[in-house]
Amino acid sequence: MNLTTTSAPLADLDVTQVELPGSEAYMRCATPWNVAVSSQPLAVVVAHDASDIQQAVRWAGSNDIGVAVQLTGHGAAAQLDSSILIHTGLLDECVIHPEGWARVGAGVRWAQVLEAAAAHGLAPLAGSAPDVGVVGYTTGGGLGPVARSYGFASDRVRAFEVVTGDGQFLRATPEENPDLFWGLRGGKGVLGIVTAVEFDLVRLTEIYGGALYFNTADADEVFRAWSSWCKALPEEATTSAAFLRLPPAPGVPAPLAGRTTLAIRFAWVGALADGEQELAPMRAVASPLIDAVGPMPYAALGAIHADPVDPMPVHEEHALLAELPASCVEEFLAHVGTETDSPQIIVELRQLGGAISKHGELPSAVSYRGAAFSLLTIGLGVPPMAQVAADDAAGLIAALDPWIADGTLPNFSAGNGRTRLTDAYDGSTLDHLLRVAHSYDPNVILTAHRALAGAAGQG
Ligand SMILES: Cc1cc2nc3c(=O)[nH]c(=O)nc-3n(C[C@H](O)[C@H](O)[C@H](O)COP(=O)(O)OP(=O)(O)OC[C@H]3O[C@@H](n4cnc5c(N)ncnc54)[C@H](O)[C@@H]3O)c2cc1C
Repeated sequence: MNLTTTSAPLADLDVTQVELPGSEAYMRCATPWNVAVSSQPLAVVVAHDASDIQQAVRWAGSNDIGVAVQLTGHGAAAQLDSSILIHTGLLDECVIHPEGWARVGAGVRWAQVLEAAAAHGLAPLAGSAPDVGVVGYTTGGGLGPVARSYGFASDRVRAFEVVTGDGQFLRATPEENPDLFWGLRGGKGVLGIVTAVEFDLVRLTEIYGGALYFNTADADEVFRAWSSWCKALPEEATTSAAFLRLPPAPGVPAPLAGRTTLAIRFAWVGALADGEQELAPMRAVASPLIDAVGPMPYAALGAIHADPVDPMPVHEEHALLAELPASCVEEFLAHVGTETDSPQIIVELRQLGGAISKHGELPSAVSYRGAAFSLLTIGLGVPPMAQVAADDAAGLIAALDPWIADGTLPNFSAGNGRTRLTDAYDGSTLDHLLRVAHSYDPNVILTAHRALAGAAGQG
């Protein structure tokens, strides 16, 4: 049962800061990065520490109200309405241990860790967008621009501190509460609200990376060449290809605006000269409109994908591909290539394999490591274009069906698209995750737990 604002005794909510609809802080904390997702929680609890979260969870449990968590809203799911929302922005601890690990609060975004770690010659396994939150990303596995070399970010976690749905504040490591430690790596917010995470860093300061942007006339041919070239790349290289249909807008480079272009992203963690040599065949296919690949500080990682920074309404769909033979490439181009009027703003294929396909030292809830490519479509999330983007993405995924692999990645499965939350977990992982969730959240207070249980038919 969900109570309304009038019947829920919000006055009994004994936390440092509660924000109600109408306040500026409520708007700031509740409005997600993906503004297409409806977000009208009953109240926002701005967590000043873990005990605020414990109080909020216990209060919600007594009132049978759901509890959601958000930092940036990059992965906003439509689960916030009629719930209270914990905002973690003030949990901003960020300590780099020069011997090679970090302790980071749930309010920290990757940009801060990239910069702080770089001062010690160290690197976190951040994602493509430095504005994404460390905890939201890492609990979803975390697949970044150097993932083929170093694997999922969640495999480097040493410890979480977390408030569970029954109001306990626990530490989860391989030895302490190992079931939580297993499931928080891949399970996102299903098992609890993380307050801090500790993880290993990589010794890396400079990479050979960036993106080549090709003009409309060359894009299809370059994509065909990329699809063969990437298969021979060693693990030092991570690459993706993205068809871009970017509108003229602030921040969009003039040569890329108002036309179809192809971005070939590349990150090489070995010797810089070897990276240049590996990329040479792509530079030889056609002359890029923009050549933005070269030696770069690892901390500038965000430049590789150049993801949009400002909040925007997006409709995302995601699937995994088992392989990318020439027949699949032609089917892909028939839906996305330059001869089409694809309504998507971005359609990207990230090459997987390498370290991504290896299991971490300890098992976790990240299920599908064996796929060859990850497909992501990003369209405009406002009516009527949202429906057009959704139908188009469904058509693309149906057309690629012969090559679609089982499963999805948790970080790309929670948006407003077709993908079901349960698709991110294989059968035994889903069962185990829900069993662990139920033991720490028997009244199903956490909205992520509610959503997964509902999607699994246990709601
Ligand atoms: C532009 C863009 C680029 C991206 N690039 C990548 C990428 O390269 N690789 C990749 O793997 N993913 C990527 N993502 C997906 C992103 O990692 C997920 O959406 C992630 O969940 C965002 O975390 P957040 O805290 O910023 O977002 P939020 O929307 O604030 O949180 C999303 C979800 O994360 C979980 N979560 C957040 N905070 C907590 C917490 N304290 N405790 C427990 N659970 C929590 C919850 O389930 C929450 O609903 C990208 C997304 C966008 C929009």
